[in-house]
Amino acid sequence: RFISFEGIDGAGKSTHIAAVSARLRAAGAEVVNTREPGGTPLAERLRELVLHEGMDVLTEALLVFAGRRDHLRQVIEPALAAGRTVVSDRFTDASFAYQGGGNGLPLAVLDQLESWVTQGRQPDLTIWFDLPPAMAAARRAAARDADRFEQQDLDFFERVRAGYAARATAAPQRFARIDASGDVASVSAQIVAVLEQRGW
Ligand code: C5P
Repeated sequence: RFISFEGIDGAGKSTHIAAVSARLRAAGAEVVNTREPGGTPLAERLRELVLHEGMDVLTEALLVFAGRRDHLRQVIEPALAAGRTVVSDRFTDASFAYQGGGNGLPLAVLDQLESWVTQGRQPDLTIWFDLPPAMAAARRAAARDADRFEQQDLDFFERVRAGYAARATAAPQRFARIDASGDVASVSAQIVAVLEQRGW
């Protein structure tokens, strides 16, 4: 099984990724935790460039997808082939949200890159943490170490959110939208319900 977590910066994914992974392990799954941009030594180097260097959006997308290609070949596909459960902090939907929605890369370009790079591989389940950008900004306010995306304004994150919403509408079976505006317990309960619904 392949599970991805998505959402705008400050949505609160990290805590819940750890909890879900622990839950799946307790149920007997061998869980591989990974992330994007990144997930392999090469892709982590590309991540550094994408997060900290200025570049146009097509360059950004090409680097993110190059990293994704490496990540799929080196980590995700081998783990799935071995029967493991892959839990990834972001995957291709993030490119549609950030490079597409946020930075305006045309959908047709993203569709093309997706088909070249992922060749049909999609998560079985995408847990989308949705909340108003102003609320996410408040959660980010205390965070150190902001990369260039985290410094974007609310309009940017509204566009990113709309990018996720469009992907969710296009793939309603795969996407589980979580109302991430509540506290940890409320978010956690929603995620458990999603997993239980699937017998996971
Ligand atoms: O989820 P995480 O905080 O590790 O993501 C790192 C940064 O990369 C975030 O600020 C996110 O906004 C950005 N990002 C991006 N394009 C992607 C994936 C993530 O700009 N495709």
